[in-house]
Amino acid sequence: MAENFVVSARKYRPVTFETVVGQSHITTTLRNAIRTKHLAQAFLFCGPRGVGKTTTARILAKTINCQNLADDVEACGVCDSCVAFQNNASFNVHELDAASNNSVDDIRQLIDQVRYPPQTGKYKIYIIDEVHMLSTAAFNAFLKTLEEPPSYAIFILATTEKHKILPTILSRCQNFDFNRIQVRDMADHLANIAKKEGIEVEREALELIAQKADGGLRDALSMFDLNVTFSTDNVLRYHEVVDNLHILDYDYYFKITDRLLDGDLSQSFLLFNEILQKGFDGHLFVVGLLEHLRNLLVSKDPITVQLLEVSELAKSKYLEQSAKTPLPFLVSALSIGSQCDINYKAAKNQRLHVEMLLMKLSYLPNVLTINAPAGAAPQPAPADIQPTVSGGQMGAGLLPKASFTAEPPAVYEKTAPPTTSKLRSTVSIGALPVPVAPVAAAAVDETKALETPTETSAADAEFTSEELSAVWNDFVKYREFNDGSVSEQIMLNRSFTLNGTTIQLVLDNLIQENMLNEIRYELLSYLRNRLKNKKIQIVSKVMASDVKRNPYTPQERFNALVERNPNLLKLQQALGLEVDF
Ligand SMILES: [Zn+2]
Repeated sequence: MAENFVVSARKYRPVTFETVVGQSHITTTLRNAIRTKHLAQAFLFCGPRGVGKTTTARILAKTINCQNLADDVEACGVCDSCVAFQNNASFNVHELDAASNNSVDDIRQLIDQVRYPPQTGKYKIYIIDEVHMLSTAAFNAFLKTLEEPPSYAIFILATTEKHKILPTILSRCQNFDFNRIQVRDMADHLANIAKKEGIEVEREALELIAQKADGGLRDALSMFDLNVTFSTDNVLRYHEVVDNLHILDYDYYFKITDRLLDGDLSQSFLLFNEILQKGFDGHLFVVGLLEHLRNLLVSKDPITVQLLEVSELAKSKYLEQSAKTPLPFLVSALSIGSQCDINYKAAKNQRLHVEMLLMKLSYLPNVLTINAPAGAAPQPAPADIQPTVSGGQMGAGLLPKASFTAEPPAVYEKTAPPTTSKLRSTVSIGALPVPVAPVAAAAVDETKALETPTETSAADAEFTSEELSAVWNDFVKYREFNDGSVSEQIMLNRSFTLNGTTIQLVLDNLIQENMLNEIRYELLSYLRNRLKNKKIQIVSKVMASDVKRNPYTPQERFNALVERNPNLLKLQQALGLEVDF
């Protein structure tokens, strides 16, 4: 079977308007024009490659020359003219591929023929493919003929790039825009061919081919042929097509989305690893995942479900997964995912880049719960989601050893988490206690209120400042490895204090604060995972400038000393001393 399989694109090229796939808006108009004898003399067929522009042009040429035109305005296929057309022997059709013949001479040769009326039949048809490729001189030579064509001449110009066509040409042609062919139409067409060829097919397989062809029937047909050739038993199966065309099975996206919704980072990493091992590119995976999330998003609303261009079986899967995926998750995931997509090429460690994406996404369900307004029904409780990533497991071998070989904190005391974590009014910077401006403290309170977790995390582990420091340092090293800037390192090395589960970080300026905000999410995810405590919060404040400035004048230095030891002031007064200017 495989040896004498005729290439479907040629064998099943449509020969009537009725059989043109997915362009009924055009074929109907053309048939009406022929029936009412209101045929234009020049047509412009625009549209992507492989959607039937040339085929429709040939059918039009054949139909208007048919000697026994049927009532349904289809060529009879048996008259002399039709037979000549079918054998490519008709003198009434002239085709020029402007992509390879775009000189003035080429177009002149064509125009010369226009002067002679057809010997048999009524019309001479000139089909110019890829007409935007004509040189300017050729265009101008052609324009004259197009302005005053003889009544028997019909021009059909085809192009994939309508915007490159001169307005003078556009205005002289009747324009037809060909659609990308819908997956469903294309799969139907392939199913018909398979039936005629006696090939058994899984509908899924055909839709996969149709999707991969991206609207071009010609590509779909050659992929179909390829898969039939590979088939040993004349059956086209979904999983074989996936392998033959090297397509990433969409099941992976369903699986990984499930894992992400569970907050199961480890399993997501393993799935991603499997995908890479199958030879797929990380970027392709990211783009595919975004497409998947988009499909879940449009499945949310009955109005947009029609935008889902997938098989019926896949559609039910999308609807099912979409129903259990919160909308905020999808919106945030798409936003985070697009950033990953945009920055992918620039990333030095692209695998890690994608893994960071998975890390952020796996943490989303948590964050969304935490930020839910009070009183809102809690999402799947974070407490139920066991933290599955410990320091040792995560990305072993991919990340700098220092970051991930560190042992997880040895002791997890299962005591009740602290119920309150009121801010102290002072925060230590190094050894020197610095009074905190009330304004700054208020601002901190506000931040904190925003991130206060709901009462869900019964299983949070306790940790000490030392454990926090160790994990924090791992993160600093990780950022250093992952293109973190020097100023970011300085910011991360600012001292912090721990109050309950709230980490208070004092920063030098707003620039540092912005820097922190950029990686806050990553940092928080990291700390919460490593320390197995989902209540961890980070609050930051910028030191008031008068506090930050080092004492400079003798008076300032004296004041600073007094702050450390108020007895100095008594000493000064007792001895009647003055600061020496
Ligand atoms: Zn005929």
